[in-house]
Amino acid sequence: MATAQTLEQESNPWEQQAARFNLAAEKLKLDAGLWRVLQQPNREIIVHIPVAMDNGQLEVFTGYRVQHSIARGPAKGGVRYSPDVTLDEVRALASWMTWKCAVVNIPFGGAKGGIICDPKNMSRGELERMTRRYTSELIEFIGPEKDVPAPDVNTNEQTMAWMMDTYSMHMRQTVTAVVTGKPLNMGGSRGRREATGRGVMIICDESIKKNNMTRENTRVIIQGFGNVGSNAAVLMHKAGYKVVGIGEWDGGLYNSKGMDIAALWEYRQKEGTIHGFKGAERADTEELLITDCEILIPAATENVINSGNAHKVKAKILVEGANGPTTAAADDVLSDKHVFVMPDILANAGGVTASYFEWVQDRQGYFWKESVVNSQLEDIMVSSFEDVVRYAEAHQVNNRIAAYMLAIDRVAYTIKQRGIYA
Ligand code: GLU
Repeated sequence: MATAQTLEQESNPWEQQAARFNLAAEKLKLDAGLWRVLQQPNREIIVHIPVAMDNGQLEVFTGYRVQHSIARGPAKGGVRYSPDVTLDEVRALASWMTWKCAVVNIPFGGAKGGIICDPKNMSRGELERMTRRYTSELIEFIGPEKDVPAPDVNTNEQTMAWMMDTYSMHMRQTVTAVVTGKPLNMGGSRGRREATGRGVMIICDESIKKNNMTRENTRVIIQGFGNVGSNAAVLMHKAGYKVVGIGEWDGGLYNSKGMDIAALWEYRQKEGTIHGFKGAERADTEELLITDCEILIPAATENVINSGNAHKVKAKILVEGANGPTTAAADDVLSDKHVFVMPDILANAGGVTASYFEWVQDRQGYFWKESVVNSQLEDIMVSSFEDVVRYAEAHQVNNRIAAYMLAIDRVAYTIKQRGIYA
C-alpha cells in the first residue's frame, strides 16, 4: 500500500508524463540531444488577468498557456478552468497533446492552457470577461497557424465563441479557425461535441474484438459524466454495451443489470444531477473504480488509478477517457495483472481528431455532413489502435509505452529532418 507521501509524489502530472517519456525514449534509444529537446516544452506563458467582478471589485486570475511542440504543425490543445490548475499540470497536458496528435498522425503539435479559478462560483459575465482578457493577453501567441485552443475541463462551446470573437476583433476580421469546439453556427463541426466519447467507444470496440468479447457481454463502468463520459455512455448503451456504473465527483450510480442511459441523460438534463435517478442504486465513486466489470473508463480527472487502488482494479480493459487518469506506479501493477490498457493519448484522441476536421473545414469554408465526420474519425481511430497494438507486440512493451514510442519517433523524425535553426 502506498503512503500519503508517496501518493502525493505520485500525483504530479509532469512527473507522470516524464516517467513514461523517459521509459519510451530509452526503449527507442532516442538520440540524447533530441531527448533534451522533447523533454521540455518549447514555450510557457504565464498571465495575470485582471477581471471586474460583479460585486464591483477587481480580481486577478493566473492563467497559463504552454506550447510543448510545433514541430509537426501548429500547437493544439484545450483550455481548462479549475481551482486545481498548476503550471506543472498544464505542462504535462501540453506534452500529452504533442504525443496524442502524433499517435493519431494529425498535423499538429501540442499545447494546453488553464486558468486558476472556480468557474462554478462565477457568473456568466465574469467568465466572459475573464475569457476575453485571457485571449487578448495571448493574442500574439495564438492563431490558426500558430496555436489553436479548444475546450477542456469546465470550458465549452460558449467559451470558444468568446475566444473566437475576441481574437477576431483584434484581427479586424472573423477568424473561425483560431479555436475548435465552437458552436455549429460559427464554424463548429458536426460531430465534434460527441467526438471524444465516440472515439472512446471505437477504442472499446477494437479492444473487445482483440480480446474475443462481445458488446452484449461487456459490462462497463464509467467514472465521470461530463462531455467525455456522458457521450461515451450514451453511444455505448445504444450500441449494446451494458453500462452498469456511472461515477460522478459527488457519488455514483450502479445497476448490475445495466442502466437505461438514454433515460439517465434525460433525467440529468431535467434535474441537473444524476442523483435520484430511479433506474439504479446509489454507489460510491471510489468503489466503482474497483467494482467487477469488463471495461473501466476513467473519464474525469488525473491520478484516480494509483498505487493505492490499482491492485484492486477488476476490469479486464482500461480505456482512458480522461488525460492522465493512471499514475506511472499504477502502470506496473496493471501490467502485472495483464489489464489491457488503452492509454489516454490514444483512447481520448477522438476529440482532437474532430478538432482537426473542424480546423480543416474552417480553412476551406466547406462543411461536412456528420456521417463524413464520423466515418473519417472511425478510420483514424481504428488505424491508430492497430498501429499501437502492433507496435506493442513487435517491441514487447505495453500499449502505453508503445503509444509513446510511436509518437516520440514521429516527432523526433520530423525535428531531425527539419534540422535545428541556429
Ligand atoms: N481538450 C481535449 C484533449 O485533451 C481536446 C483538445 C483539442 O481538441 O484541441 O484532447
